[in-house]
Amino acid sequence: MTPTNYQLAISDALKRPTPGRIPFSVEFMPPRDDAAEARLKHAAKTFHDLGASFVSVTYGAGGSTRERTARVARRLARQPLTTLVHLTLVDHTREELVDILREYARLGLSNLLALRGDPPGDPLGEWIPTAGGLTYASELIELVQSLPECEHFEIGIASFPEGHYRAASLEEDTHYTLAKLRAGANYSITQMFFDVEHYLRLRDRLAVDAEHGHKPIIPGLMPITSLRSVRRQMELSGAALPPALERRLERAAAGDEEANREAIREVGIEVTTEMAERLIAEGAPDLHFMTLNLVRATQEVLHNLGMAPAADMDVIR
Ligand SMILES: Cc1cc2nc3c(=O)[nH]c(=O)nc-3n(C[C@H](O)[C@H](O)[C@H](O)COP(=O)(O)OP(=O)(O)OC[C@H]3O[C@@H](n4cnc5c(N)ncnc54)[C@H](O)[C@@H]3O)c2cc1C
Repeated sequence: MTPTNYQLAISDALKRPTPGRIPFSVEFMPPRDDAAEARLKHAAKTFHDLGASFVSVTYGAGGSTRERTARVARRLARQPLTTLVHLTLVDHTREELVDILREYARLGLSNLLALRGDPPGDPLGEWIPTAGGLTYASELIELVQSLPECEHFEIGIASFPEGHYRAASLEEDTHYTLAKLRAGANYSITQMFFDVEHYLRLRDRLAVDAEHGHKPIIPGLMPITSLRSVRRQMELSGAALPPALERRLERAAAGDEEANREAIREVGIEVTTEMAERLIAEGAPDLHFMTLNLVRATQEVLHNLGMAPAADMDVIR
C-alpha cells in the first residue's frame, strides 16, 4: 500500500451505500494461537462477504500485542477491509507510542481508535501512567496530530453510555468525551451496553455541543452467548447488566448454564436483535459487534435483521 492509497476513513466508510438496512462493523482480537488464527480468518472472510463497513482490531496490554495487532490489521486491510486499529497508552513511553504510530502509518493503516487502556492487573483500579508515558487518551490524539507521517489518520475514541467507571459523574464523563471530540476525534464507539436508553441518553448529553457532539456515536453490541462470560465482562468494564435481562438469562440457564447453553444463546441473540431494531429506528450510524472472533452469533442477529443469510448452524464458530 502506498501513501497515496490510504484506507477509507471510517466516517466515509459509514456513508458508503450499504447492502443492508444500516452499516455494520465488527471488532476482532489478535489471535494467540493457530486455532484462533483460523477462526479469525474464517470470521474476516465471512464479514467481508457480508459487506461489513469496517473491522477493528483491539490492542491488549503489554507483551506481544504490539506486533500482533499491527500484523493482523495489515492483513485485514489487504483483504481488503477498511480497518480500524486500536492503540492504548498502557506500558508505553511516549517514544514507543510514536514508533507504533509510525509503524501503523508505514503499514498503510490510517484509522486509529485512540484509547487510554486500563490499569494492568486490576482494570477497575487506579490508573497510574507509565513513567515517560501519557495519561489520557486526549494526549494520544495530540501526539498523532503532531506526527507528519500520521496527518492522514482519522481518529476515533471510546465513549461510555453509562459513563466511564472512574468519572465522578455523567457530567464529568460528558465533559472529557466532548474534549476528545473537540480535540479532533471524528466519531466514538461505545462500550457495550444492554439498555438502548443508555445510548440515547449519551447521545443527548453529547448533543449539547452543536459542533462536535453530533459526530457519529457507533453503538457497541455484544450478542450474549454465555452468562458467565458476560457477567465477567460487565464486571471488568464497571458497567451493569439490566436486572430484567439478568433474570431472563438466569431463567434460560435454569441453574445449569452448561446444559442450557443454547437457551442462553437464544435469549442473547433475541435481545441484541431487539436492541439493533431500536437503534436502527433511532438512526444509529452503524452497528458495531464485539465478535470475540466468532461469526455465528453476530450473523444470526444480522439474519434476524434481514441483513445476512442464515448462519451455518453446523459450525460453532
Ligand atoms: C469501543 C472500545 C474499544 C476499546 N478497545 C480497547 C483495546 O483495544 N484495548 C484496551 O486495553 N482497552 C480497550 N478499551 C477499554 C478502554 O481503554 C478503557 O475503557 C479505559 O478505561 C478508558 O479509555 P479512554 O480511552 O476512554 O480513556 P480516557 O479518555 O483517557 O478517560 C479515562 C478516564 O479519565 C477521565 N479523563 C479523561 N481526560 C481527562 C483529563 N484531561 N483530566 C482528568 N480526567 C480525565 C475520563 O473521564 C475517564 O474517567 C476499549 C473501550 C471501548 C469503549
